[in-house]
Amino acid sequence: MQHDVREARAFGTQFYNVGVIPDEGIAVNHEQPIEAALVILSQGSGIPIDELRKMNVEGWVPSENGVPTINNREELEKLYDIKNKKSPPSEERTILDEMLEKPRLRNYNSTIQEIREATIEQVRLIMSHEVISIEELHEFFDSPKVLDFIKKIGLVSPDLATLLLVHLILYGKSVLTLGTEKHLPLVEKANLLEVIGCLMMTEEGGGSDIAGTRTTAIFDNETRQFTINTPSRKATKAFIGGAAKNANRTVLFARLILKGKDYGVHGFEMEIRKNGELIPGIKVKDMGKKLGLNGVDNAYVTFENVRIPYNSLLDKFCEISKEGEYIAKEGNLDPLTLVTRFLLGQFVSGRHTIAYNSGNSFSFLTAVFGCYPPSMSKFRHSKEMVDNLAFSFAHEFARPIYFGNNLKNHFNASVMKAVASQMAMEFFDKIINLYGRSSSPHHYAIVRELAEYQAGLDATKTYEGDNNVLLQFVAGKQILKLAYQEYLELTKLDFSLPSLQKKLAILWKYISQNLFTKELPYFLLKAKMLELQKSIANKMRASGGKPELVKRIWDTSCQEEGITIAKIHAETLIIKEFYKKAKALDEEEKSTRWMHLFEIYSWNICKRYVPHVKIPDLSDAYENLMPQVLELLSRFDLKMEWLDAIIPKPSKSIPFDKFDNVAYELSMNLSCAL
Ligand SMILES: Cc1cc2nc3c(=O)[nH]c(=O)nc-3n(C[C@H](O)[C@H](O)[C@H](O)COP(=O)(O)OP(=O)(O)OC[C@H]3O[C@@H](n4cnc5c(N)ncnc54)[C@H](O)[C@@H]3O)c2cc1C
Repeated sequence: MQHDVREARAFGTQFYNVGVIPDEGIAVNHEQPIEAALVILSQGSGIPIDELRKMNVEGWVPSENGVPTINNREELEKLYDIKNKKSPPSEERTILDEMLEKPRLRNYNSTIQEIREATIEQVRLIMSHEVISIEELHEFFDSPKVLDFIKKIGLVSPDLATLLLVHLILYGKSVLTLGTEKHLPLVEKANLLEVIGCLMMTEEGGGSDIAGTRTTAIFDNETRQFTINTPSRKATKAFIGGAAKNANRTVLFARLILKGKDYGVHGFEMEIRKNGELIPGIKVKDMGKKLGLNGVDNAYVTFENVRIPYNSLLDKFCEISKEGEYIAKEGNLDPLTLVTRFLLGQFVSGRHTIAYNSGNSFSFLTAVFGCYPPSMSKFRHSKEMVDNLAFSFAHEFARPIYFGNNLKNHFNASVMKAVASQMAMEFFDKIINLYGRSSSPHHYAIVRELAEYQAGLDATKTYEGDNNVLLQFVAGKQILKLAYQEYLELTKLDFSLPSLQKKLAILWKYISQNLFTKELPYFLLKAKMLELQKSIANKMRASGGKPELVKRIWDTSCQEEGITIAKIHAETLIIKEFYKKAKALDEEEKSTRWMHLFEIYSWNICKRYVPHVKIPDLSDAYENLMPQVLELLSRFDLKMEWLDAIIPKPSKSIPFDKFDNVAYELSMNLSCAL
């Protein structure tokens, strides 16, 4: 009997999917699910039951397990097949391809130890196949091979990507780029996974303020050893990925103290475990279960008089002479500046990875959403798909903004990391909410898989540079510097900020003369930035140019506007790239669809930051794009097998009795509404 109720509900959902909204709470015949569904359908559509029986409705017969069968999966698969026949994937299949195709239905009863064990096993498997080396990750970061690797490990699971990249980039690349010749054997061992590394930078007292690191490394020239200590609770290393169990070596960031003088933060490579046992003086406290990324063993770590040899110092930029003198190796630049530069360089790859994989999560989510429509009308689904595709392509086309390893790209990688990771979270929220309102067990399964992914990606908002801090860095250091300099110049003349006003006037003139051009959202966003700059500059006037007052005014009343400026700045970069690419693609394909997608994206963003703006009628763009959504979706470099491995097919692959209690109860609660 219960089974029938659920079956009826699922069958009802099937019709719901094609646009008929069943009335909740009507009497149904639980013994006969098809009859029950017909009652729902008849009630919702106003069509008499007898008439409905005569109609040949697609998906009429409920699947064996009562799960709705209407989805776009088959159609999308055909499109992928056509695409693959036209241009077969060129690269060789690797262990990552196999992992991506292996079904990963989660077992929600797994213990944290089991999840961690499974994740480190995946790391071992990948490293044993020598898929990538630390040197390749360093030298060819933007190469197709490395990008393919980053994308695939991210899709296998955020836990795997995090644990593996902590080892390869945070540990391995730090040793490679901060160390010298004598440290290279460690890189080789890391490539072979003979050592497992972690990175100890963050402290309980604050992770964003690296210059404020409290852990000390005091050098004794007689023994040529450093003594590592955690002088206060705030100096406890925190959130160290891999440190609770897996790692046996680390790159530690600590203040180098020599003859009582503090030389600032330096990197040290050292052993933390021997044969599975912690080195005496090192204490580790497992951070236990987290919101997500439970495959990564994070820990608090403290040091008490741990002695390490001189060679532990990663000495690319400095050394300590036999006489115990500190020697900076690189010309006039002091080692602190060099280490800071190194850290920036180090973070660039991390930020690239996050911006890149956040972009990939847009297309992944759009593919899931495209394949398996939640309970909504077909019309609404197609319209949502157009919006989702516009976001996905915007981030796909945005990559040239931050690839490449120069200072400008570091700046762009920082802002793109912050904006893309933030938007990815919002995108997850939106899609999960849409499925959450649905009523089929398959949709609950989707919600849970996506929620697990989202929880895994959540930490990207803070690691590799906290988003709030990065956005302020971008706003403060780059954009506002101009406004502030201008302000200082202007204050010499009068106190009216006419220059900014003049700029605004020119922009508005341009805008009014070019109303409804394709570039309009871009200029509206630029104008909004200027307006915010003006507002901040006005507040800054009170400082009289005194740096300590500038900082206080910034902290107390300008942060939010500054962060918005940085976000808008990122969007103008994205819109510019999208425009270029859309124009080129339309010319190539003799179409208008890319420009339509561009318009939809740019107006969406414009509305977000300039809420009073009147959006032009975009119905032509939607009408043009809605019939093409699946074909557009098939353009992303995704495979049906990858999706199937994460989101199982609804009909036979997840029968009710395989559902665990949560999904079962949820579906039952909803069934009761019948
Ligand atoms: C899952 C996970 C894994 C991690 N792995 C590692 C690892 O392996 N090794 C490692 O060293 N670290 C690791 N971290 C730590 C991570 O790098 C830090 O969390 C990050 O750098 C931020 O530091 P914090 O948490 O101390 O926050 P803080 O920097 O103290 O910031 C706290 C809050 O204050 C805000 N804030 C900070 N400064 C400002 C400002 N100037 N203006 C406005 N707001 C501000 C931030 O937005 C944040 O909301 C990991 C973190 C997580 C969550």
